[in-house]
Amino acid sequence: MPEGDTIFRAARTLHRALADQRVTRFESVVPRLTRVDADAPIAGRVIERVEARGKHLLIWFSGALVLRTHMRMHGSWHIYRPGERWRQPRREMRIVIETTAIHAVAFSVPVAEFVPAATLDAAPALRDLGPDLLSAGFDAESAVDRLLALAGVEIADALLDQHALAGIGNVYKSEVLFMGRVDPFAPVRTLSREQIARLVSIAARVMRANVGEGTSAGIATYSGMRRTTGRADPAARLWVYGRAGQPCRRCGTPISTRTQGPHARSTYWCAQCQD
Ligand SMILES: [Zn+2]
Repeated sequence: MPEGDTIFRAARTLHRALADQRVTRFESVVPRLTRVDADAPIAGRVIERVEARGKHLLIWFSGALVLRTHMRMHGSWHIYRPGERWRQPRREMRIVIETTAIHAVAFSVPVAEFVPAATLDAAPALRDLGPDLLSAGFDAESAVDRLLALAGVEIADALLDQHALAGIGNVYKSEVLFMGRVDPFAPVRTLSREQIARLVSIAARVMRANVGEGTSAGIATYSGMRRTTGRADPAARLWVYGRAGQPCRRCGTPISTRTQGPHARSTYWCAQCQD
């Protein structure tokens, strides 16, 4: 599943490509979008901005209309020049937004709706989001409070709860817990406020480091170069995620893995460093 940094980068790339341009053509195979487009056409509107909120991507159109999409597991937004060959099959296309310079295409995006700008903040999917790690005004104290409120939840699952803290996905979950030397299976109530605050601080730091400048243009959704170790070598980018059975980079103990939580998400950890 894309994490907050992926969506943040996608939003930034789309913003740079589309902001202040007029839509020349809109196409979708999603009935709830085409119904809105039939009543109040998207073509002719100006794209005002594109932003990420947690893992939601918001495209603001003139006329106070917002397109909200969520990538879930396999969705992505691509940007192409007119006439450029798509890098995903046409059958995966869900939305096309064209301007004279750019064609933005959403593939396999499972969640898409138009929301009037005036009611956006009240939309159920956004209303209950916790503080966004990548937002300029990130409220770390509030995030810590919300995590502490999940007293009986194992910390790894609590970090994935977008109502507590928006932006962390499964890769950062394991990485942040390793960096903070916290057992992923420890219930929140067994951790101190200081430990939780440290995890939040680590999460903010590594996620921000991963949305630094310098991505290539073209495909907007980025997934390949996330890193937490600070090392550019592709084989050394992450501490524990995806490294089951390989030696811990700190102590040499083989990295453990098992599924965890109601959604059976994979957790990776070092039983020696994180007990
Ligand atoms: Zn270790």
